[in-house]
Amino acid sequence: MRDCLQFYIDGKWVDPIVPKTADVINPATEVVAGRISLGSVADIDLAVAAARKAFPTWSLSSREQRLDLLLAIQSEYTRRHGELGDAITEEMGAPKSLAHGFHVGLGAGHLQTAIELLREFQFDEQRGSTMISREPIGVCGMITPWNWPMNQTCVKIFPALAVGCTMILKPPQLAPFSVQILAEILHSAGVPAGVFNMVQGSGSVLGTALTTHPDVDMISFTGSESVGVQITKDAAETVKRVGLELGGKSAYIVLDDASMAEKVGAATAAMMGNSGQTCSAGSRLLVPSARLEEAIAVASAAASTVTVGNPTGNVAMGPVVSKGQYDIIQQYIETGMSEGARLIAGGPGRPEGLDKGWFVRPTVFLTTNDSVIAREEIFGPVLVIIAYDDLDHAVEIANDSNFGLAGYVDGLDVETCRSVGRRLRAGWIGINGGFDFHAAFGGYKRSGNGREWGEFGFHEYLEIKSLVGYA
Ligand code: NAP
Ligand code: MG
Repeated sequence: MRDCLQFYIDGKWVDPIVPKTADVINPATEVVAGRISLGSVADIDLAVAAARKAFPTWSLSSREQRLDLLLAIQSEYTRRHGELGDAITEEMGAPKSLAHGFHVGLGAGHLQTAIELLREFQFDEQRGSTMISREPIGVCGMITPWNWPMNQTCVKIFPALAVGCTMILKPPQLAPFSVQILAEILHSAGVPAGVFNMVQGSGSVLGTALTTHPDVDMISFTGSESVGVQITKDAAETVKRVGLELGGKSAYIVLDDASMAEKVGAATAAMMGNSGQTCSAGSRLLVPSARLEEAIAVASAAASTVTVGNPTGNVAMGPVVSKGQYDIIQQYIETGMSEGARLIAGGPGRPEGLDKGWFVRPTVFLTTNDSVIAREEIFGPVLVIIAYDDLDHAVEIANDSNFGLAGYVDGLDVETCRSVGRRLRAGWIGINGGFDFHAAFGGYKRSGNGREWGEFGFHEYLEIKSLVGYA
């Protein structure tokens, strides 16, 4: 049992003002794995006051002080890598290899990137007689989801620490364990009191307390579109900056010169990774009409060979995070079948041999872009294949979406990949499997308005001041 019953406020572990707890369920076993305390508005008030009090000193700290802190965090993070991985498997069901690999690794990557950038980052820049000074925005409220708990927390707190902000983190109720360890890491590394604070509990209570708080200068949110809209409204009264990283329904375009066996296979496996619970997943696979049957055969074989089961073992896919998510995904699979999509792999219910845990069958449909399962984010291991006639048609389908988080273009001719990538209305385009911690990550359209990762993540947390007549 993992108990996360205290909050981290003003450099100390403290009890909640009003004691109240909630169970945390292991999605692979459906058994209670631990408890968290559910904080109240009064706990948030204390955390915001601590962050406010710490801001004047931390915002004026030197680059070297902040670098020293990030380096100390890095050695603690490395030391506790294994514990973080185990916690992620237990709280949200990622297979051990994925949890210890990419999950914890993404957090480490954002930390290393923040360290590299902080060494060089130009906070001041002269333009004519004006000095443009980039200054920390202030006290930041951070609200994060459960699907990549280390990635989505680290991508916010390390840039914010690097530029001199103070913060209050509200972790997801469904995945609180790894973030609890992260708070212990920050404490051991010597983060000054009040610079980082964490209160566990419900989004509707704590999230709202943060978004409406007059002493919070900015909200950084990753999660669903509906909550993103609510947060924007709640933050409007106090004119906060709001950074939103929301959902997606991203197109994965395989060009007609590509090997279907390789690229459709890779796209299908990628979709099933993390049980499909990735905002930037390439969940609409666009393939050339002329090679459709070949693509279907590859996708069907690739989905059918994904091993699903106990995430502490050697499997490619664990459960989805909760019964709630399981039910939503099952509903979408039913919708796909009732709206006439052709089922290529998987389907309703749990995979054979698994009668406990929130396991979903890796599922593939052939459909058209106007279907519900092609338009809405399912957030589960469900891939839809859509055929295109030519490049213009592929781009048109890809852009015919309310979302615009990511896109993928795979093909032999690099120039064609690049030009198709430029035509996509989305913020992050992967070409032939590209990956880079220095790339900006964020969405067009209803996928949000923020840009995280790399140097762009620093700018999220900076105000711009003009000292006119400086020179
Ligand atoms: P969510 O409901 O948007 O939750 C994300 C975070 O916001 C959680 O910490 C949540 O707290 C908090 N929250 C909830 N209501 C709030 C409010 N009124 N004000 C402020 N904060 C609030 O997302 P979810 O429930 O985790 O997942 C639901 C759907 O969101 C998914 O199916 C998927 O479509 C989308 N999603 C997208 C991403 C992404 O990276 N783009 C990530 C996760 C989910 P609680 O802990 O109390 O829920
Ligand atoms: Mg929710």
